[in-house]
Amino acid sequence: LGGRLYLGMDFGTSGARFALIDKQGTTHAEGKRDYPLFMALSGPKLRISLTKLTESLEKSEETMDWARSWKSTLFSLLEDVPSHLREIVTSISIDGTSATTLIVDSNTGEPLWRPFLYNESCPEALPTVRSIAPENHTVCSGSSTLCKLVSWWEREDSQRKSALLMHQADWLLWLLHGKIGVSDYNNALKVGYDPELDAYPSWLLSQPYSQILPSVRPPGTSIGHVKEDIRSQFGFPEDCVVCAGTTDSIAAFLAARASQPGKAVTSLGSTLAIKLLSTTRVEDARFGVYSHRLDDKWLVGGASNTGGAVLRQIFTDEQLEKLSANINPMVPSPLDYYPLKTAGERFPVADPNMAPRLDPRPQSDVEFLHGIFESIARIEAKGYGLLKDLGATEVDEVFTAGGGAKNDKWTKIRERVLGLPVSCASQTEAAYGAALLALKGAQ
Ligand code: ADP
Repeated sequence: LGGRLYLGMDFGTSGARFALIDKQGTTHAEGKRDYPLFMALSGPKLRISLTKLTESLEKSEETMDWARSWKSTLFSLLEDVPSHLREIVTSISIDGTSATTLIVDSNTGEPLWRPFLYNESCPEALPTVRSIAPENHTVCSGSSTLCKLVSWWEREDSQRKSALLMHQADWLLWLLHGKIGVSDYNNALKVGYDPELDAYPSWLLSQPYSQILPSVRPPGTSIGHVKEDIRSQFGFPEDCVVCAGTTDSIAAFLAARASQPGKAVTSLGSTLAIKLLSTTRVEDARFGVYSHRLDDKWLVGGASNTGGAVLRQIFTDEQLEKLSANINPMVPSPLDYYPLKTAGERFPVADPNMAPRLDPRPQSDVEFLHGIFESIARIEAKGYGLLKDLGATEVDEVFTAGGGAKNDKWTKIRERVLGLPVSCASQTEAAYGAALLALKGAQ
């Protein structure tokens, strides 16, 4: 094995995974855990009847003890790593869902408040945030980390003096290295960190809650050794280090190893998301386009509402395969659709009222599907075109992730429409990307 392995863990929306790789990027072990259900015991004493339990499970986001669940999952994943491989783990990194926020006690690291989940919105904080942040800044969205922070800060019972803000990945990494209040510039973007300045901006530093913001490191830099108790419990080597992490979607991009400017990853899942590595930073709030820093480059992204969700409304996955087999991808389809599940589009056209367009529907389902694939490919091409117009590096190769990646006919159609080489990304697991960050931090 060459004696050294690198461990990445991904804490996604529905569960957590680990990937253990060597220096060459070969995977030696991987695994997955679902989050266990722990109910929060704070508030009125729990004496739950069955109906009450069902009710609380229904509004489980309110009563779930997420922090305990993540912590327990972290240790389960570490146990799942075969013990003879744990002995040669040189470094560890973790990615978490973006904007998942914990307010913890700065001495004990214990949560002072239930975690704010990635998709939770705090619209009550928006007026305050809008009044301090530059217009159209990423923090000016109800689900931004800053809105979550302000929402908590403005509560009467907030324990402001002893508080510290940490993102999900920061907190899980802290459980391993023990240095409280360390984050990375990808996770910190949505709280307002300026990755170009490599500092919190002055409009944020002048706020009373700036004292509870974490310090920020580049993703994949060593923060410190694994704590002694953890090290001996799991049998990690003495020099095993813990490295700053990133967000789940960036880790998924890193997994594709598209490390040169001009390389891009299109994610063809329920929606269509594109991410392009660029030498220039591009932001345009109208289209929801923004850039994450990756060392000396920028990861520019945009997300359209079109994508596989529409396909699933019309065809089963089985039908998709059968019909696709009869498509000739070399022939352009004359059908011009704009497949959307509901009205409204953000990127590459900003139009909140845009109507879905899926007619005329031809007699032949093969032709219909061909037209949909071709139309989504045109939207993808327009997306890359828009990023270029906004100043990003021009795309020269596209890797694909998500459910649509396995469709060879669609890939051929996209190659023709984009005029670029398109292939399936060899790795798409965020845990693999996190392992690459661990590898980076060990060098
Ligand atoms: P999610 O964004 O929900 O994680 P996935 O990455 O799992 O989505 O992709 C699911 C999507 O892939 C579905 O919307 C489905 O329509 C699409 N899909 C599944 N099989 C195929 C196929 N053979 N060809 C094209 N699209 C497919």
